[in-house]
Amino acid sequence: MPRRQTKTQRKKGAFRGSYAGANTISFKDMLLKEPILRAISECGFEHPSEVQQSAISFAMVGQDMIVQAKSGMGKTAVFVIASLQQIEIDEDEPAIDTLVLCHSREMAFQVHGEFERLGKYLPEIKSGVLYGGVNFAEQKADLEKEIPHILVGTPGRIQHFLKAGLIKLDSLKRMILDECDDMLEDKSMRRQIQDIFKATPSTKQMMMCSATIGSNARKICRQISNMAEEIFIDDSKLTLHGLQQHYIDVDEKEKIKQLTTLLDKIDFNQVMIFVKSKERTTALNKILQESSFPSIFLHGGLTQEERLERYRKFKEFEARVLVSTNLCGRGVDMEKVNIVINFDMPRTSNDYLHRVGRAGRFGTKGMAITFVSSEKDKETFEEIQSRF
Ligand code: ADP
Repeated sequence: MPRRQTKTQRKKGAFRGSYAGANTISFKDMLLKEPILRAISECGFEHPSEVQQSAISFAMVGQDMIVQAKSGMGKTAVFVIASLQQIEIDEDEPAIDTLVLCHSREMAFQVHGEFERLGKYLPEIKSGVLYGGVNFAEQKADLEKEIPHILVGTPGRIQHFLKAGLIKLDSLKRMILDECDDMLEDKSMRRQIQDIFKATPSTKQMMMCSATIGSNARKICRQISNMAEEIFIDDSKLTLHGLQQHYIDVDEKEKIKQLTTLLDKIDFNQVMIFVKSKERTTALNKILQESSFPSIFLHGGLTQEERLERYRKFKEFEARVLVSTNLCGRGVDMEKVNIVINFDMPRTSNDYLHRVGRAGRFGTKGMAITFVSSEKDKETFEEIQSRF
């Protein structure tokens, strides 16, 4: 049984604020390796955000971590930097050192990109990514050519490789669950994660993070970690600083007109529009394109190549409007997005928090507009209003 933290220990690690600005420690003060500092500086990160200030120093000395801080505050860099700082390479016996599990293929792609970016000056550390929807044989061939020290992936594909004996996790030093609440609350993903977990040594470091870790997920996080440092913010403080939140009461049949009027009136960099089904992404995107809005759409039913191509297109500002299902509602980091529109109401207030967190990343200003249409919408929206 894993040991539990005492109350005092938890208090010691209690969250010390979420917002960038109050800088007491610099990246240099953290005594990071020079190649990491160089990459950090090249990324344009001048000061660590508060979650980075609070978490990196614990994480980089191997402490188990449960980290909740609002979206866009740089949680990814916490575990990326902490891992890069600790990895020691054994050239004679290459093995997977760090495993990162992500809830979607886009997130695995994005997180792998962060390892490449921040590990740019540590070329001896190799990283790889495995997710479904792409050719298994090609991924297998890549792995046979070189065992990565850092492996990022989605639980399903990692489990598949593990079962097929194509990867070994018995020397693993670190396991990271990004958007941990989402993955642990999804029954099938939880089972996959459990299987993977069983194949790893008990001595590994566990790091788990999300903008929302409810009591259920938190309990599981504690069960699978050991004396974890818990860096938490309570829900009332999760209010989205720098984000203007609006709602519009609108009839379902008036939604499109309302949306196009808004897009005409508002001055936006990039906008993400969330709808509730794949069919609605396609249909709404078509209408927007016909009205000359530079829009694309994304949902889980597209081929993996198409998904990543559209993700890239939007990230690189080749499209200004993205219509998406909840697939892009979490974690996805598009720095130029300043407006999020909930064309359809999110299912839960947690989903709302994640969706609107796509705008106003890393302390920039953003706006969220939510359409409230049915009675059910009203119920969900009341919960959202009372929480945020
Ligand atoms: P989270 O995981 O908390 O939602 P991300 O890790 O995706 O947030 O980071 C959000 C954005 O902020 C990313 O574009 C990332 O490159 C950027 N970022 C992270 N840390 C810093 C920093 N210290 N200074 C400036 N930008 C940062």
